[in-house]
Parts: sequence; C-alpha cells; structure tokens
Amino acid sequence: MVFEFPNKDGAKYRIKNQYENYIGGEWTPPLDSEYFDNESPVIGEVVSKVPRSKEADVDKAVEAAKEAQKSWGLTSPTERSNILLKIADRVEEHLEELAVLETFENGKAVRETLNADLPLVVDHFRYFAGVIRAQEGGISQIDNDTVAYHYHEPLGVVGQIIPWNFPLLMATWKIAPALAAGNSIVLKPAEQTPTTILHLVELIEDLLPKGVLNIVNGFGSEAGQALATHSGINKIAFTGETTTGRIIMQNASQNIIPVTLELGGKSPNIFAKDVMDEDDEYLDKAIEGLVMFALNQGEVCTCPSRALVHEDIFDDFMERVIKRVEQIKVGNPLDPNTMMGAQTSNEQKEKIASYLDIGRKEGAEILTGGNIKEIEGELSNGYYFEPTIFKGNNKMRIFQEEIFGPVLAVATYKDDDEAIEIANDTLYGLGAGVWTRSQNRAYRLGRAIQAGRVWVNTYHDYPAHAAFGGYKMSGIGRENHKMMLEHYQQTKNLLVSY
Ligand code: NAD
Repeated sequence: MVFEFPNKDGAKYRIKNQYENYIGGEWTPPLDSEYFDNESPVIGEVVSKVPRSKEADVDKAVEAAKEAQKSWGLTSPTERSNILLKIADRVEEHLEELAVLETFENGKAVRETLNADLPLVVDHFRYFAGVIRAQEGGISQIDNDTVAYHYHEPLGVVGQIIPWNFPLLMATWKIAPALAAGNSIVLKPAEQTPTTILHLVELIEDLLPKGVLNIVNGFGSEAGQALATHSGINKIAFTGETTTGRIIMQNASQNIIPVTLELGGKSPNIFAKDVMDEDDEYLDKAIEGLVMFALNQGEVCTCPSRALVHEDIFDDFMERVIKRVEQIKVGNPLDPNTMMGAQTSNEQKEKIASYLDIGRKEGAEILTGGNIKEIEGELSNGYYFEPTIFKGNNKMRIFQEEIFGPVLAVATYKDDDEAIEIANDTLYGLGAGVWTRSQNRAYRLGRAIQAGRVWVNTYHDYPAHAAFGGYKMSGIGRENHKMMLEHYQQTKNLLVSY
C-alpha cells in the first residue's frame, strides 16, 4: 500500500503487503509459513501480513545470535561505537520516512514522530556510541605482589521484548546499549506494531555483521514466550504491562538470567498553590505540562494520568486546563497540526471506553470529554477519543489502574503531606511531576515521591543521559544513562599474583 504524507510535496511511502523475520542477516519466512494480519489504526484496515513466529523460529534466531556473538563480542569499543554512529546517521537521513511509517502503523501524531520519537532514536544511538568509548574498568592493588583487574564483558545473547506505544524508540533504548556493550540480540516487536523496526533494519543491515541483530515477529504467548524461556539467552529485557513482566521474571528464574523490566505507571503530578501566583509563562508551562496526559493519545507509561491540584487553586487552574484541552486537535495523525491521533488498536479502544464507563459508575465528575470521537470519511473506522478529564478521589479505579488512554483523573489536596500521601498511594512508581515556583518545596516533594523519574517544572523530556525506570510494580533496572551499559555487561575479575 502506498500513501502520501501531506506535509511534503510528492512524498510517497510504501507499506509492503508482506514482511519477513530478520534472522542471521537474511529475510526469513516463518518456518511453518503462518502470518498474521497487521492493521493500521489510522484507517482501521489490514495493511500487511507479518510472520506469526513460533518456537522453531526463535530457536533459529538465538542460534544465529550465538554464532555472531563469537566475533562481535571480541570487537573493540571503538569499532562498535563507529557502527552505532553510522546507524544514527542512516536513521537521520531517513527520518521522515520512518516517522511517517511509525505514525501510520501506531496511530500517533506525525508531529510527535517527526519531532520527538525519531530525533530521540538518532540521539540514543549517538549517546551509546559515545559512552562505550569512555567506559573504564578498574585496577585494585591488593598487596605488593597482587593486583585485581576488573573488566567489562558482554553478557552474550540478549532477548528483548518491546511494546507498541513507541515502537522505534523502545527498540532503540534496548538495541543501542546492548550493541555498544558487545551483545548480540534477538528482539520481538509488539504484534500491534511489528513493521517499522523491520524498515529500520532494512536501512542499516549493511552496517552490522550478520546475526548480531535478529528480529522475530509474533504474538506474546508464542514467539514472546519462546524467547523469554529460551535457555540460549543470557538476559531478557522487557517493556510492557506489569502482569506480563511478572511472567517474564518467573520464566527468567528458570534459566537464572538477569531481567530488566520497564512496566506500567499511574503518574501523579502535583500542582502547588503558587503555580497560580502570577498569570505568566510559568503558569502556561504548567498547564502545557498537564495537557501532556493526552500526548501520544495517552499511551505513555509516564503520562500525567493523575493530577493533584491544591484545593485553593483547583477551580481557576482547571478552568484554564479545560480551555486548553478543548483546543486539542484530534484526528488524522498524518496531519502535522494534529496533536492526538488514533489509539493503537480496537482492543485499546474497547479498554479506554470501558474505563469511561467505570469512571461514570464510580461517581467521578466529567470535566471535559468522555466520549469516543466519531470522524467522517476514510478515517471513520479508525480509533479516536475525546481527551477526557474526571474529577474524583484516589480510591477510585480510574485513579489506581493504568488506562493507557487520554484520560486524566484529578483530585484536590490540602497540604504537602497529603499530596505526598496521595501521590504514593499506588502500586506503581514510574514517573511523577512536581509543579511549584518554590525550589525548597520542589526538592522536598521530588525526594518524597516514590518514583524512578520525577520531573520538576517540566514534563516528558527523555534525554539519553538521564536514567529512567520504575520503583515498586513499575519495574526493575534502569534504561538510558551510561549506567545502562552495565545492565548489558558482566564483570570479569582477574586476580593476578606477580
Ligand atoms: P504487553 O505486556 O501486553 O506486551 C508487551 C510485549 O510483550 C509485546 O511484544 C507482547 O507480544 C509481549 N508479550 C506478551 N505476553 C508475553 C509473554 N507471556 N511472554 C513474553 N512476551 C509477551 O504490553 P503492551 O500492551 O504492548 O504495552 C503497554 C504497556 O507497556 C503499558 O503497561 C505501559 O505502561 C508499558 N510501558 C512501559 C514503559 C516503561 O519504560 N516503563 C514504556 C512503554 C510502555
């Protein structure tokens, strides 16, 4: 299928009718020739067929990765760094093509894929190209004749399983550090968004030795399960739902391998009374920060899905927020002015609709939105919603459960202690936000919130050099930052007597 991107005269991008796995440097059909239908949520139609891989395909990919690992693991940091830099350049050259394909496959607004997702992909490859060259080992003098040398070694073959909400960026967060550290990879994309990573691999396949990066598509219960339980992998890195993370961890225990788990969230954002002290740029910024609950259609693990607003400013502040939310353009994600595109699948649409019912039944008040958005014409089968704000209390399910849609739950609080108590009254601990003009309050609240990432007076920035990951049920381990390299390495100690 060919479709045009309206932003660039004459630009046409092609989705293939059929894709294959990428194993040992070859485009490889599934061994039992079974494919599944891949749908674009923008138009709600099947656009291509993708391998429905099983255990035998995963075996083949792990074997290829193992073989490639023998020489890849011996390459120097400089060689690997240079390859990652070339990958970054190649992605940058094809940035628009990849951004448009990502939008068509996932439903997210092209202004996000063009200006955030793909530039971040490029930057993360460059960042890990840099840090691998700067990484140092250690030497300890034990006594006059004895020295302990500490080396970083790759783990070997790593399994990586990613979700559908940021397909290329989530893949990059895993691929870039793993390659930099000298591992070979078998990656399984989400079944809802299986193809953009294959397009990326097509663009870079001449840059990597065969078998170093393998992509096996399929369902979680088949290809995913086969990868996570495979005795040939030396680590499993997973991003997805907390319930799936639990299964992944149980499976990893069979092979005694390390896991990185990046799981769900229910991010609290605290708005202090002083936010409304002046009608100025700071206030506008705070409002924009909260409006990010609708970014990526609310399909972000760190979306500000719960807001706690000081009771004295609640009415005035929310009036401004609602006015801004009602200006959000929802619709064709390929239109550069659209902020909210399509939810990624029919399943996701049903889940969000069910939470709108749950919120109503729990007695939460709808401040704006609350409905599916009907769009006429060729998008009429796509999955669109109005951005929705509920007012309620933190005991409600809409405050406790991850909806993963453009649904914000807001409540009031009296003082900082109560704000912290409500913020931490959740199973999750991934992202959080603090909005206040007071540095002291920002520090105290930021330290007291149990979350791996607390944004203060900003939101949703993801620089490669800032560690990201969850407390509590939001996961184990961190991604990004140079510390990530060590999550893909083991330490060898040589204790030498001279
Ligand atoms: P999911 O858990 O349903 O699926 C994620 C991946 O796991 C998919 O590739 C799927 O095929 C695979 N999978 C499913 N069952 C499996 C099994 N038994 N064994 C092995 N693999 C299996 O999650 P999703 O719906 O794709 O993604 C949304 C979730 O991801 C949300 O909870 C969101 O918060 C979370 N997320 C977290 C982060 C983070 O960094 N913490 C980032 C993005 C998304």
